[in-house]
Amino acid sequence: MHFEFNDDQKEFRNHLSRFVDERVAPQAEALDESGDFPRQIMEELGELGYLGIKYPEEYGGAGLDEPHIYHAIFCEELARGSLGVGSALAMHTSTATFGLYKWGSEELKQRYLIPALQGKMVAAFGLTEPNAGSDAASIRTKAVRDGDDYVINGTKIFISNGTQANFVTIAARTAPGKGFDGISLLLVDTSTPGFSVGRRLEKFSNHCSDTAELALEDVRVPAANLLGEENMGLINLAQSLNDDRMMTAALSLGLSRAAFDASLRYSQEREQFGRPICKFQAVRFRLVDMLTRLESARLYTYYAASLADQGKDITKEAAMAKLMASEAANYICRMATQVHGGYGLMMEFPVQRFLRDSFFPLVAGGTTDIMKVIISKSLGI
Ligand SMILES: Cc1cc2nc3c(=O)[nH]c(=O)nc-3n(C[C@H](O)[C@H](O)[C@H](O)COP(=O)(O)OP(=O)(O)OC[C@H]3O[C@@H](n4cnc5c(N)ncnc54)[C@H](O)[C@@H]3O)c2cc1C
Repeated sequence: MHFEFNDDQKEFRNHLSRFVDERVAPQAEALDESGDFPRQIMEELGELGYLGIKYPEEYGGAGLDEPHIYHAIFCEELARGSLGVGSALAMHTSTATFGLYKWGSEELKQRYLIPALQGKMVAAFGLTEPNAGSDAASIRTKAVRDGDDYVINGTKIFISNGTQANFVTIAARTAPGKGFDGISLLLVDTSTPGFSVGRRLEKFSNHCSDTAELALEDVRVPAANLLGEENMGLINLAQSLNDDRMMTAALSLGLSRAAFDASLRYSQEREQFGRPICKFQAVRFRLVDMLTRLESARLYTYYAASLADQGKDITKEAAMAKLMASEAANYICRMATQVHGGYGLMMEFPVQRFLRDSFFPLVAGGTTDIMKVIISKSLGI
């Protein structure tokens, strides 16, 4: 296993890192308090061309040879400034636009993908339902063919960017009774009659990444909005779900770095018993444990991204990267509050936000248990 960043990737990170320090990190606290979707930041990143990292130049993308590595850097750096900003925008630039890019008609791409990559439209991805989370194949939302249209009925829950989205890739059952192979993907414009945001969901974590319940009542969309072959939606989505896990792994790395950096700094400034607390072995060892988990997860995540860029199947590696990085983030953020003592519990210190945010990657893109289910399949057991 080997991975090293090349000069172009380092330069890309430096450039983005400056943007994060100037435009994202200073707003993180206020966005966490207000829960506002980071629209201004999204528009700025769109103007700078960062939203199209994964896509070809003809749609306003960057046309990169190693989109997975660059997208991981994008997610890591944004999440270092704010996990909420990172996850809202990573969903937009990855899972929520992937189906449109991969299987959408040219007309749909002109109408939705180009403005999305410019930061002028927001995208969401709707798979999860109140009764179908880990068991995604049990979704009940139905799309019934009626002439040149599909008519969709159902409810989606926990949909990131849901209250803001201009369009949503909806997974719906098109063949009743079938399992994985009876589901299709349809692009739904959120201005279509019958589409509504049921409610914006309040959560303790990741505030400015908006989460919503969506209702679809006799939503009529043209059959041309079908993304990919009918009934093959979930099977086709396999690559996208791997990307979703890679994105969550990279977001976890950024959050971990923010928590580690804050803890190292604090341990050098805070004095007890006449010396900085980093001079106590217990604190030093805690920092060492945090860094070791961060660097291991980081190396593995970029290794998995580099395999994806070589066109390899990364089903196992994406699940391992996501498992490792999200669990590391949760541990690192918990240890960060310990390093901060009583101040770690105070709202004026960012570590409480880091800890709250660190619960999001444990669930997003599939839970820790589901990652283990996927990895164990590779063992043939
Ligand atoms: C903030 C947030 C944003 C999200 N954004 C989106 C989005 O944009 N689009 C979207 O479609 N979805 C989204 N999700 C949904 C997310 O993918 C699901 O929450 C996740 O897959 C888990 O499903 P569930 O919540 O229904 O939990 P459940 O599936 O009910 O799981 C409950 C518990 O049972 C365990 N469990 C379930 N099945 C198994 C099994 N086979 N083996 C072992 N353990 C098992 C789980 O690990 C978990 O601990 C989001 C979720 C959150 C919290």
